[in-house]
Amino acid sequence: MPLTLTRSDNVPRLVRAAPIGICITNEEGILEMVNPAYCAFYGYAEEELLGQPFTMIIPEASREAMIARHRDFMRSEEEQDKRQEWEVVGRDGETRSIIAESSRLEDDAGRLKRVTFITDITERKAMERRLDFLARHDDLTGLLNRRAGMARLEEEIARSHRQDSPLCVAIVDLDHFKQINDRHGHATGDEVLAGVAELVQANLRCYDILARMGGEEFLVILPGVTHAQAHETLERLRTRVASASLGRSALAVTLSAGIASLRADDASHVLLERADRALYRAKQDGRNRTLVG
Ligand code: GH3
Ligand code: MG
Ligand code: MG
Repeated sequence: MPLTLTRSDNVPRLVRAAPIGICITNEEGILEMVNPAYCAFYGYAEEELLGQPFTMIIPEASREAMIARHRDFMRSEEEQDKRQEWEVVGRDGETRSIIAESSRLEDDAGRLKRVTFITDITERKAMERRLDFLARHDDLTGLLNRRAGMARLEEEIARSHRQDSPLCVAIVDLDHFKQINDRHGHATGDEVLAGVAELVQANLRCYDILARMGGEEFLVILPGVTHAQAHETLERLRTRVASASLGRSALAVTLSAGIASLRADDASHVLLERADRALYRAKQDGRNRTLVG
């Protein structure tokens, strides 16, 4: 099929003036028309785009899928392709997010074309990612919050049942934390809390999960770990925290922890209740200790 590239002087003014990127590709996915907004968005001159496959702005990893998608659309009965969000790459190599909407049409010679309209949603996506992060993390410590921690726990329980692998959890609670606030003020208490969170996180493996459940209480999820190993881990955390100087006032704080290991058919609340009871005993036994429930 001969190439019929449309240079900008032949592009209708309306298309040239459009504030959104518009391109036309042929059945093979070759760009035959690009408007100025399209060129500006990707950072290429019109001559650099015309005659090129549209995949030049698609990240390497998704090119094949995009080619297949293009082929399917050109052969389908649908005249409109579904509104889709894509990651694209401009000349500067930066990844951007767009919404693409396309229609299929025939030119005067009866050749099938695809016209695509693109909207830049990079900022909106960045904002969405930020909001998603904020919704799942705790402000003070940067750890997963309760909701996200519980969601991870459900995932890990399902995985453990599926793979028949061990799983332990620990509920960690700081000892006499109210006294720290009472003696040194809430802001100092905050620093100590953040310091404990950082220290505990730094002493866990990368696949362990730490969440702030609220107040001065944390959830530790230890996938693939038996209760003996979990006890060892929590003891290590306990001694590290007990010997640390935290916050600008270099305060000492201790923790107590209740550990529970997953049994067949345990639901999350059953597992957590067992850990909670062990924590309660650890507190009763004098604090600064870790017990397996
Ligand atoms: P126990 O050893 O029995 O756990 O004693 P505790 O004082 O730690 O327990 P209690 O539940 O009586 O008090 C918890 C305290 O934690 C009370 C609250 O002021 C403090 N706290 C909870 N959340 C925060 C926070 O975000 N920042 C600060 N600074 N303090 C907090
Ligand atoms: Mg406490
Ligand atoms: Mg508490």
